[in-house]
Amino acid sequence: MAKLKHAMKKRESKPFKELLLALRARLRGDVSGLKDAALNKNAAEGSGSTLSNHMADMGSDQYEQDFSLSLMANEEEVLEQIDAALVRVNEGTYGACEECEGKIPKMRLNAIPYTAHCVKCADKIQRGM
Ligand SMILES: [Zn+2]
Repeated sequence: MAKLKHAMKKRESKPFKELLLALRARLRGDVSGLKDAALNKNAAEGSGSTLSNHMADMGSDQYEQDFSLSLMANEEEVLEQIDAALVRVNEGTYGACEECEGKIPKMRLNAIPYTAHCVKCADKIQRGM
C-alpha cells in the first residue's frame, strides 16, 4: 500500500465513502430519484432560452456546476472514477492527488468526491498537458 502523506485516515474518508456510494447508486438508477432527474434534464434541453444566472459568489456554485456538467458528460466514465475512488478509500490513499501526491482540498472532494486530482493537476490534464 502506498503511503501518501496527504491521504485521509479511514475515519476522515468515511463521509466521502458514503457520498461515493450514494452517487454511484444514483448513477446506476438504484433509487427512484433518477426518473425525476431525467425528466428535469429533458425539460432543460427542451427550452431554448436559458436564463444565465450571474452569481456574485461563484465559490461553491462553480463546483456544483462542474459537478453536474461532468455527470451529464459521461456517466460511464464517472462510474469508473467512483469505483476507483472507493478503491482508494479502502486502500487508505483517498484525499491525495494521484499526480503530485498533494492534498486535495475537502471542499473539492465535497463537490467531486470521485476526483483523483487536485485542482492544479486536473486543470493540466484537461488541457492535455
Ligand atoms: Zn496534484
